[in-house]
Amino acid sequence: MTTATLFNYSYGPGTRRDTAPLPGIRRVVIVGGGTAGWMTALILARSLLDRGVQITLLESPVVGIIGVGEGSTPWLRGFFDSLGIEEAEWMPACHATYKCGITFEGWSTKPGFEKYFHPFASMLDNLTMRQFVHNVEARINGANVHAHPDRFFIATRLAANRRAPKSSEAFPFDIWHGYHFDAVLLGQFLQRKAVERGVRYQSCHVTHATLSADGAIESVSTQEGETIAADLFVDCSGFAGLLIDKALHTPFVSFANNLFNDAAVALPTPIDAAIPSETVSTALKHGWAWKIPLTSRFGNGYVYSTQFCTPEEAETELRQHLGLMQADVPARHLRMKIGRVTQHWNKNCLAVGLSQGFIEPLEATALLFIQRTVTGFVEFIEAGDMGEAAQAKFNQRVNDHFEGTRDYIVTHYKTNTRSDTDYWRANAQNNNLSDSLRRLYGLWMSGKSIAAEVGRQEIGRGYPIFSWYCIMSGMGIFPDQKDLRPANGKADLYSMEEIDNLIERCVQNFRPQKELLADIPKKIHEKSLQIYFW
Ligand SMILES: Cc1cc2nc3c(=O)[nH]c(=O)nc-3n(C[C@H](O)[C@H](O)[C@H](O)COP(=O)(O)OP(=O)(O)OC[C@H]3O[C@@H](n4cnc5c(N)ncnc54)[C@H](O)[C@@H]3O)c2cc1C
Repeated sequence: MTTATLFNYSYGPGTRRDTAPLPGIRRVVIVGGGTAGWMTALILARSLLDRGVQITLLESPVVGIIGVGEGSTPWLRGFFDSLGIEEAEWMPACHATYKCGITFEGWSTKPGFEKYFHPFASMLDNLTMRQFVHNVEARINGANVHAHPDRFFIATRLAANRRAPKSSEAFPFDIWHGYHFDAVLLGQFLQRKAVERGVRYQSCHVTHATLSADGAIESVSTQEGETIAADLFVDCSGFAGLLIDKALHTPFVSFANNLFNDAAVALPTPIDAAIPSETVSTALKHGWAWKIPLTSRFGNGYVYSTQFCTPEEAETELRQHLGLMQADVPARHLRMKIGRVTQHWNKNCLAVGLSQGFIEPLEATALLFIQRTVTGFVEFIEAGDMGEAAQAKFNQRVNDHFEGTRDYIVTHYKTNTRSDTDYWRANAQNNNLSDSLRRLYGLWMSGKSIAAEVGRQEIGRGYPIFSWYCIMSGMGIFPDQKDLRPANGKADLYSMEEIDNLIERCVQNFRPQKELLADIPKKIHEKSLQIYFW
């Protein structure tokens, strides 16, 4: 049985599907067979195949997939649950591990705040959430209380102990968690599943699209000499944006004015004996390095800005960081186009994945965009609502999600206190901020609660309140230690020792990641209900 995950919108595979034919959609063509293409194929298949719609995925035999993208948010669990695919099946096939959250190392130089963990929070964290928010607000207002996020959350302690976020059966609480996985294996797994479920696959190289008189896409032509028509086209061709950009010329909004990174270099290293349950993101001279644990290896990479260093310098710095200067391991270099299209759904074309846009991988949000874009689109199809007003509403939603997430990612850079390179100084001095971000920083600096502001539509559209408290406090955005006054009774309400003990008692119910992963093929029990707190 799969999980019924309330906040994650998932439900059992047995949920009855509508089989009534859909007016106007008989044939769907997806161009591109990366993670975006196959996730799209599976989500559409679930809704459309029973309604007699034919879904065909075209993939170039000469253009490869991007092959990175190995960390997820907790929402990926909802994707697999909704398709009725169990962890016991997909995780071993993709060398996957559980992820409790992300450690950010070296982003701040403030004493005591040189690193912090951004946990995936869950209902159990309600036990300590009030204490955390209270202490953070007291410290912004000058009281010397403990307000570093790392002492308050269970996922943080699990990651520090390399435990997996799956409790023993006797402990009836579910923990929100994400995953790490091998991107190439995940693509192959999803392809197998989609084809098994009735999606057609054709290996061919699309050369161009032909438009009809109203500007919609009529057909795509291939190097192999075929012309393929459809009612709906999905552009999953990656950064190439074959349909949404090259054919439809949809305007693109670049994020380069406040997200400077535009390149990456990746290198694998052997996995540790005790497999970690976190991604580590370490600030380097001109960007940051990721370290992602799989069962078979660590995936590592350096995301940097070519305005500030060359690919050769980046590779050398990454090799030094990993202790690989002498090793004969080849590196992969990639370029990234950072920004988004203005219309993810334009005419009869839906753009999904890198073709619709990309906010650099710092919080591993790209697969979530894929999932949300396609499930959101399916809601409109199922409601038979495909007109211009529906398109505008849909595009606004996706754009809001992009901009809200962008605000959060920008905050990582804007709040850095490093001064060792031009790159970090330029990030700290950059004032290209959205109005929502300005308001939020203003409230924080003046000692006011940010909860109401985050709750407002604009700023909360990417990340929940709790994440905003974590990032600002984790980066140490507080008065300097010398300016803090001793905490009086009202500020100092909570005992950190009690909080430590409470968390420790919970953590004892979780097993080491490696031990748990060895049991996955035997099917780890799934909790039947999950409730997210905020
Ligand atoms: C450095 C980096 C790190 C990342 N890390 C993360 C992460 O941790 N978490 C996360 O969620 N995401 C991450 N991402 C993003 C993630 O990799 C992508 O969102 C995801 O892989 C989806 O890519 P895609 O399918 O859109 O594109 P691609 O994988 O590039 O696939 C494009 C497909 O289009 C096909 N194609 C191209 N041209 C043609 C043509 N002419 N005819 C037919 N087919 C064609 C190709 O054959 C291929 O199948 C990262 C990205 C980068 C660059």
